[in-house]
Amino acid sequence: MTAETVRSAGATDIVPAAVEVHDVHKWYGAHRVLDGVNLTVRPGEVTVILGPSGSGKSTLLRVVNHLEKPESGYVSVNGEPIGVRRHGDRLRELSERAILAQRSRIGFVFQNFNLFPHLTVLDNVAAAPVATGRLAKPQALELARELLGRVGLADKAAAYPRQLSGGQQQRVAIARALALRPGVILFDEPTSALDPELVGEVLAVIKDLATSGTTLVVVTHEVGFAREVADKVVFIDGGKILEQGPPGEVLDRPRHERTREFLSKVL
Ligand code: ADP
Ligand code: MG
Repeated sequence: MTAETVRSAGATDIVPAAVEVHDVHKWYGAHRVLDGVNLTVRPGEVTVILGPSGSGKSTLLRVVNHLEKPESGYVSVNGEPIGVRRHGDRLRELSERAILAQRSRIGFVFQNFNLFPHLTVLDNVAAAPVATGRLAKPQALELARELLGRVGLADKAAAYPRQLSGGQQQRVAIARALALRPGVILFDEPTSALDPELVGEVLAVIKDLATSGTTLVVVTHEVGFAREVADKVVFIDGGKILEQGPPGEVLDRPRHERTREFLSKVL
């Protein structure tokens, strides 16, 4: 990776992309998991990523959040290269601390909620702004209350995660992601672990974020949600993006046989 790739990958745009993934390759041992992935997410856009199990969707989100390091290629979030910084005409690896700071500007919502079991709901949401030094405890608690209201859980502030349904826990996880006021929120199958009757309440919260202009990247099999909310639908298979475009194109007139086959299974 050179400074030139950084420039050609979008750093010269007037408004930087919220997320820019440029020719990313990722291997696990001899197994190629991402094979030249290119993706641009504009600020305020909602991107839905579809694809079969094992196609590389989680790995792609983890590369964007620097939980995995690609073997080659370039990722930036809000115009800031992930994991490296420019030093003259060279790129230097960031320190672990700087990487943590970058990661704190990217929201991540996991399939299994990953709440802190020993903290109340309110403290789960308030923890990160305090730990990162962004807010003093009283301000963080005030923000946490406001965000719990936004996801419809103002009355659960004093509860512990185990006392909540899966849908409520996932809404807490979304409030927790919002507490760092991230430039983008990545969702990795946020409703896959939920009982069917709880899926709707979580999708409603994500929809609310989408319509209020939050930049979202959502891996999901919920095609109805994609149709309703996505600006762009991306289909990934075998570590490659096979097609991407507005939902009306990718979902209704897919160009690839693999996309048609996948959609016929999930619809
Ligand atoms: P998806 O989220 O689309 O189901 P993943 O990104 O989780 O796909 O995985 C893509 C491929 O990489 C799969 O074949 C998976 O088995 C493999 N894989 C994922 N994580 C690891 C890992 N840490 N070590 C080795 N192989 C992995
Ligand atoms: Mg996955």
